[in-house]
Amino acid sequence: MDFISTRGQAAPQAFADVLLAGPASDGGLFLPSAWPVLEKAEIAALAQRSYGEAAFTILSRFADGSFSPDALRADIGAAYAGFETPAIAPLVDLGQGLHLLELFHGPTLAFKDVAMQLLGRMFARALAERGRRATVVAATSGDTGSAAIAALGGMPNLDVFVLHPKGRVSEVQRLQMTTAPFGNVHNIALEGSFDDAQAIVKALFADTTFANDVNLTAVNSINFVRIAAQIVYYFTAAATLDAPPVFVVPTGNFGDIFAGEAAMRMGLAAERLVVATNQNDILARALNRGVYETGEVHATLSPSMDIQVASNFERALFEASGRNADWLRGAMVDFTRTRRLVLPDPVRQSLAARYAASRSDDAETLATIARVYRDCGRLIDPHTAVAMTAAEAYRGGAAPVVVLSTAHPAKFPDAVRRATGQVPPLPPRLKGLYDGVERVQALPNNLEQVRTFIASRLDR
Ligand SMILES: *Cc1c(COP(=O)(O)O)cnc(C)c1O
Repeated sequence: MDFISTRGQAAPQAFADVLLAGPASDGGLFLPSAWPVLEKAEIAALAQRSYGEAAFTILSRFADGSFSPDALRADIGAAYAGFETPAIAPLVDLGQGLHLLELFHGPTLAFKDVAMQLLGRMFARALAERGRRATVVAATSGDTGSAAIAALGGMPNLDVFVLHPKGRVSEVQRLQMTTAPFGNVHNIALEGSFDDAQAIVKALFADTTFANDVNLTAVNSINFVRIAAQIVYYFTAAATLDAPPVFVVPTGNFGDIFAGEAAMRMGLAAERLVVATNQNDILARALNRGVYETGEVHATLSPSMDIQVASNFERALFEASGRNADWLRGAMVDFTRTRRLVLPDPVRQSLAARYAASRSDDAETLATIARVYRDCGRLIDPHTAVAMTAAEAYRGGAAPVVVLSTAHPAKFPDAVRRATGQVPPLPPRLKGLYDGVERVQALPNNLEQVRTFIASRLDR
């Protein structure tokens, strides 16, 4: 399968090249040239399959031609062997048509492990086949960084640089990144916001001389392979329900929820995709009012969603415009300059047919955590709580509602304790986290200094 850029000016690429490239050379994002569509019977049969088999069914459609079936099966098997539960992404019935899709059973306790563990294996394989080294640079609001380090730490053919916004990630998130005992992992605490970190990563890619020199690549959700791996759990969750569900997704960079759109384009019957945001509500405003406009970034209790520029929204705009790359290229260039984009009516209508959106603030997040604990005896993390708040606000009739639970409550113990008085116990796999030695470099929000730091660490 070939992949094309949302901005229409990069040559089509194969799956393995998309994996290693990250963003497209024209500044756009890769998508399949045409969505593979699964037969109804094939989708229904997923209910009887293991998670790994479901992943193979879906990912082989994309990886065909780049990875042999045996290689793909091996990488999927290795990626999910380290998960705490054999179901990988269990769907928990909370009663009254409400379900929780638990995506936090991987090594770093957030949903990003689901894609990153697989991506890491595929990266190692694709680089080894090509005899290449690569440099991964990732901006993180907290969870991508730890997931990337857990997946890529210690790999012989990769150097990994992770930029997190200094002081704006939870303590567990920071320690997971900075105490990782790997020589090829370099943590940068950037004096700025997540958006500043993401802007620096984008600028490093735009510096093609530097990017080519160090073989720069991205494992953020702009990498289509991340999205591809996340499509799987939409299928496995829906397969066990008796009607097309509403999926409610705590959203930051629009990667996870776009995987839901991808699943629908591949034939999955779903009622609606609900974007749940915290106070950083650019997406809720864009979908509800038709103006995509950045505001100030607020630090919230759900820091992995403290984002004002949602990179993957570009993919949804590409599809909603009928794949109009010429319009999108102009629109994105204007948006980068003015921080504002008025969505044309047809685009808005197309988005509205698929997505709903709502926002909530920290007070509601705490109230929801407390209520779920009181009613169900379960501790949920603040990101899951943002989605749960949106699920309660959404009036969708009789369809089953699936709330994506994106992090383990122990990853955000302060918010959970404030809401419930309970401290969620750290799972055994994280014991010892507080005893590790931290390795991190603080840097100002300055492209030149970040580039110089990266170059100095690569200078062997
Ligand atoms: C990254 C993250 C999100 C947001 O996912 P996007 O793909 O960026 O929309 C939500 N919850 C948690 C816990 C996360 O780590």
